Amino acid sequence: MHNQVKIKKDFQMFYHHPDLVYLDNAATTLTPDIVVEAMNGYYHHYNANIHRGGHGIGAMATERYEQVRSQVVQYIHAPGTNNIVFTSGTTHGMNMLAQGLKHLLEPGDVILLTRMEHHANLLPWQRVVRETGAELRFVEFTDDYQFDMDSFDRLLDERVKIVSITHISNVLGTVVPIKEVCQKAKDMQAITIIDAAQSIAHMAVDVQDIGCDALVFSAHKMYGPTGVGVLYGTTALLEELVPYHLGGGIVREVREDSAIWNDIPARFEAGTPNIAGVIGLGAACEYMKDMGVTDVGDHEHTLMAYAIQQLATIPQVTMLSGKTHVSSVLSFVVEGVHHHDLATLLDEEHIALRSGRHCAEPLLMALGLVGTCRISFGVYNTSEDIDRFIVALRKAIGILTNDE
Ligand code: PMP
Repeated sequence: MHNQVKIKKDFQMFYHHPDLVYLDNAATTLTPDIVVEAMNGYYHHYNANIHRGGHGIGAMATERYEQVRSQVVQYIHAPGTNNIVFTSGTTHGMNMLAQGLKHLLEPGDVILLTRMEHHANLLPWQRVVRETGAELRFVEFTDDYQFDMDSFDRLLDERVKIVSITHISNVLGTVVPIKEVCQKAKDMQAITIIDAAQSIAHMAVDVQDIGCDALVFSAHKMYGPTGVGVLYGTTALLEELVPYHLGGGIVREVREDSAIWNDIPARFEAGTPNIAGVIGLGAACEYMKDMGVTDVGDHEHTLMAYAIQQLATIPQVTMLSGKTHVSSVLSFVVEGVHHHDLATLLDEEHIALRSGRHCAEPLLMALGLVGTCRISFGVYNTSEDIDRFIVALRKAIGILTNDE
């Protein structure tokens, strides 16, 4: 098992903020020194553009950048490096998929999402619906905040051409049984897309075992830098995908009025990419490999069980979780208290959590809430963090409800 005291030493943030209880890992994880150093290494030692130029440092930058593709292949068990496209993050990946696949849609076709989607997996499809005449359907969640398989079964018919679904809800922490979902969708010949933003650093993600056609995630949710992410696609999917961003590096031949696309994945990476960011993502893969993503998940789930037990002792707290909640994310509301007020008072005690609508407004509406407070764990969190959070929470509730 991990020694969290030692792990905290990997992160300069805890050196600069020794009192910090960081419970906002679903928004972004902190960045360990090895990731920062890997990015600095690029700027200090081989700062050059990639896939261009005839000089040695350019070749070195290209080699390091391409090496990261292999590290990602290993991390998500992809068939090969040609299945890995670097993006600027989950949002970018989703937009690429929506715009790049819309040519397959006709009026009356259906894109199936869930009520739990982050706006990143909703707005790009809303645009596609307006452009193509296709329509959206939404899988419900159960009273227990679980993915409603009956609702999915009812909504999945031969009109469904794309199923695009979150792996783990960033609000509820619900884990969607995506393997079963992908299997059923495949039986209907629908394309399957997974938003793995919230699972990638918390459970093993094996794209071939899941059987999805595409999967997207962001490096900054797995201890990597911001502004970089991955779009994984099967070869068949990537061959269907029309490049969304056009520019240098994605073409084999260009005339004044036409162009021939480069090979996959180069055709999807127009312009100079976030080279340092990709190098940082490689270091983050290494970090996760050392930590072991399953061990990290187990640690976080143990903390979650403890947090739930402690929160249950505060009568004003309602948790948005079912009977069993095996997750690293939990939302809760406090009777008579605005979530932002609570977050502000907790911040005074150096407890960082998220409050608001979490970029999932339709979900909040379905829940009948204007916002929640959300705690989310990472590899460095400890049971002492939870104890400090609970003490601060009791104090804040006391102040805000004039109970103290
Ligand atoms: N999907 C989910 C489930 C998320 O939690 C997030 C980030 N909150 C995103 C998509 C968007 O990720 P990014 O902002 O890194 O593009």
